[in-house]
Amino acid sequence: MAETYLNYIGGHWVPSSTGETYRNTNPARPDEVIGEFQRSGPSDVDAAVTAAARAQDEWRRTPAPLRGEIIARATRMLVERKPELAETITREMGKVLVDSGYDVQGAITSGEYMAGEGRRMFGDTVPSGLPNRLAMTVRDPVGVVAIITPWNLPMLMPAWKLFPALVCGNTVVVKPAEDTPHAAVRLFQILEEAGVPPGVANLVTGYGPEAGQPLVDHPGIDMVSFTGSRTVGKQIAVSAGGELKHVSLEMGGKNALIVLDDADLDEAVTGALWGGFSTAGQRCTASSRLVVDRRVADKVVEALVEGMSALVVGDGLDPETNVGPLINAKQLERVHAYTGIGVDEGAELVIGGEKLGDELGGGYFYSPTLFDHASPDMRIAQEEIFGPTITVIRVDGDEEAIAVANGTRYGLSAAVYTRDTARALRAVAELKAGLVYLNAPTIGSEIHLPFGGTKDTGNGHRESGTAAIEQFTETKTVFLDYSGTLQRAHIDEPTGDAPA
Ligand code: NAP
Ligand code: MG
Repeated sequence: MAETYLNYIGGHWVPSSTGETYRNTNPARPDEVIGEFQRSGPSDVDAAVTAAARAQDEWRRTPAPLRGEIIARATRMLVERKPELAETITREMGKVLVDSGYDVQGAITSGEYMAGEGRRMFGDTVPSGLPNRLAMTVRDPVGVVAIITPWNLPMLMPAWKLFPALVCGNTVVVKPAEDTPHAAVRLFQILEEAGVPPGVANLVTGYGPEAGQPLVDHPGIDMVSFTGSRTVGKQIAVSAGGELKHVSLEMGGKNALIVLDDADLDEAVTGALWGGFSTAGQRCTASSRLVVDRRVADKVVEALVEGMSALVVGDGLDPETNVGPLINAKQLERVHAYTGIGVDEGAELVIGGEKLGDELGGGYFYSPTLFDHASPDMRIAQEEIFGPTITVIRVDGDEEAIAVANGTRYGLSAAVYTRDTARALRAVAELKAGLVYLNAPTIGSEIHLPFGGTKDTGNGHRESGTAAIEQFTETKTVFLDYSGTLQRAHIDEPTGDAPA
């Protein structure tokens, strides 16, 4: 009998009021059941939002350094449990153990950083234009925050939204991806043990339309922080935006790794292999397009094929494995369909393009796949495949490389390989992306720097670092007048001229 896991609402582990659960399985061995998870509906969401709203005032009034200390305690537990948590992630989501370790480490680093923010969380103190007056800003929480996350970073994603939201004094309701509820349950067990007060952080598991949408639509929600696909993000922008809720969206990417003709080709190919195939390409920042100067393209493709042939596909728990399974059967079909699309569009399928489940015990395995001679407007060069597929586009010179890199609706991450500083800096200046890497692949962001993208990747927000503090707070501008007289800001000189 598989274990049944519960929602966490108002400090209690509770079953869904729907009475229904759903089964979560291991993508490497789909007949291995991870557990039964609550299939929540609108009334569970309502209970969670009500609990979060009730806990709001007390949490908001708890000094930020104390909120930070609770996060620090949770972070220490993450450190102690890192190996078992990594295993939980690999079983549930498929990626190789070291990669799952990185997932937990991302949560740890975020916790360390945000715990410290409890003693920082700077506002501004600036001179007033009037005598005997102090002017400053302080930060208030936004209120009750809905956190909706994808499955590819099952612990990092909830953690790097939760920790800043909590340290800023918000209370939250988390709806994790249906494919990775176990990692979220583990994280919430830690939050409970660390002493997060009842109602401050709530968890409802279930499906997007049944639990996610009611959460976004709930009138008690002040802010939605979402990471996931463009399609769902757009929907959330419309429904939450219509109610003037704060909305922060992080969506997809079709990230270009540019190889200029003077690049260290070994380094570029090693970078492309890591950027394209780690997490089986299921990363928003995956190096899914290789934009290569025609003069070096044959060499790059040849070396890539050699590197790809050596990649071992298999169960992520096996230390020999480089590329784990895809998340579920639907994603496997989707990724495979893109192989067909690429062939139909006339790109050259160089290697891969096969489902490997039959050889590997029925899991959702796909062979690392390389398309060459793609044109920039093909669907395989424009749409996010979210699998182990790299599309090579050959270009003539730097200008075309940058134009091609910029020529998608997304703007998350971009990379340039060159030995020439001037060419590198010109590329950095011209690339329309939220993250740019020089001589490194498109993945590998750090927790204390802003993370996010331009164009259809986002709606102008950044996560991580102080950017996250901006996102999860309202600024309050405060004037303290000790002149003992009425000073009228626009009228009484010396500086006059205030907007309101
Ligand atoms: P998704 O289908 O958009 O799902 C994301 C989350 O939204 C899941 O929890 C999902 O629930 C939920 N959801 C679905 N429909 C909803 C609705 N109508 N209302 C509210 N919530 C709803 O994305 P995914 O397939 O899990 O993740 C892959 C995508 O995430 C890719 O596009 C990837 O690029 C993007 N991503 C972006 C970043 C970034 O920081 N830019 C990072 C990682 C991933 P279910 O699980 O039940 O569907
Ligand atoms: Mg699963």
